[in-house]
Amino acid sequence: MTRLASSYGRLPFVPQPFPGEILSSWLSRIAAEYGVSLEHLTRHLGLSAATRTEIDHASTSDDIQRAAAALSVAAAEIREMVHRPLKTPVRRLRERYSPVQVCTRCRAVHLRRTNKPVAIKAWFEYWQIECPQCALPFSAPGGPNLNRSNPAHEEPEWFGQIMPLARRGAAQIKAFARMPYSASVSPVAILRLLSMRRGHSILAKPEGTWETPRYADGDHCIAEFFLPGLRELLHQDSLLPKLWTEERPVRLVSARTILYAAMANFLAEPGASYSRTVDALVGSRRTAVEQWLRHLPQHSAKILNPQRAHHRGNSLVSHLQQI
Ligand SMILES: [Zn+2]
Repeated sequence: MTRLASSYGRLPFVPQPFPGEILSSWLSRIAAEYGVSLEHLTRHLGLSAATRTEIDHASTSDDIQRAAAALSVAAAEIREMVHRPLKTPVRRLRERYSPVQVCTRCRAVHLRRTNKPVAIKAWFEYWQIECPQCALPFSAPGGPNLNRSNPAHEEPEWFGQIMPLARRGAAQIKAFARMPYSASVSPVAILRLLSMRRGHSILAKPEGTWETPRYADGDHCIAEFFLPGLRELLHQDSLLPKLWTEERPVRLVSARTILYAAMANFLAEPGASYSRTVDALVGSRRTAVEQWLRHLPQHSAKILNPQRAHHRGNSLVSHLQQI
C-alpha cells in the first residue's frame, strides 16, 4: 500500500529556507540538522527523488506534496524551489551545465547564519545575470581570477550602460529557455552562443586546433554572424572573451552579460537581424561558413542532427547551409 504524505507527519524542527534557496540545498541542510544523509531524509519523506539533481530537476508532484506536508509549507512554495522542466534542445545544454555564478552578498549573509552550504536556484539558471534578491551582478563562484578582465570593475561606466540592454536580453533568453520553439529565432544559434564554448564559436577552425586560434584579417567569430553590431557595440576588443579575440579573457559571468546585451537587439527583431546577417554572409563569407559548419564540435553536430534540420525555428542554420 502506498503511504500517504500525511502518514509521515511533520518534522518537528525545520530550519528556514533562505530566499530563493533551491530545494536540494534546503533538504541537505535539514538532513544535516538531524545528522542524517540527504538520501536518508528523502527516503524518510517518501520522495522518489534522492540525489540533488533528481530533487531539483525531477521531483514529481507527489514528491512536492510530500515535502510540503513534512516541512509545513505550501506545495506552491516547494514548486518554486525546483527547476521548471526545460524543453529540448535547451535541456541538452542544461545537462552539460554547471553552476558558474553566485551572489557574493547573499553568500556572505548565508555564511553569517549557517556553516552549511547554501545554494540558490538562480545561481543555476544561466539566463540570470544578477541576483533576484539584491540585484547585484553575479560573480564566478571561485573568487576573482586575476588572469581575467572584469569589465564590471574596470569599465563600470561602460558596463553600467549595457546593463539595461543585458536585462532585456536575459529576459528574452529566459523566455526562450522555457519555450524554445515559440521564438522566431534559431534555437541552435542561441544554444551555441549560450554555451560559450570556444569550439562552438571559432570560425573555420578544424576540431582539435582551436586551442590557439589565430584570426586572419577579415575573419570574424561566429558570434558576430548571429549578433549583427556586436563589434560596434563592443568598442574595446579587450572586453571581448578570449575566444573572440586574442586579448585577455573576460570573466564568464561578465562575458555573458555582454552577450545578452548584444543579443537583446537581435532578439527584439530577429527577422530583420537575420536578413542583415545573411546579407553580410553572402560572398566572401561563404567559404568560411561552410568550413565552420563542416568542423562543428561534436556537441554542436549532435544538436544539428538531420532529424532536427527542418524543425520549425531552425531556419537560421538551414539558411546558412543553403548560402
Ligand atoms: Zn544576492
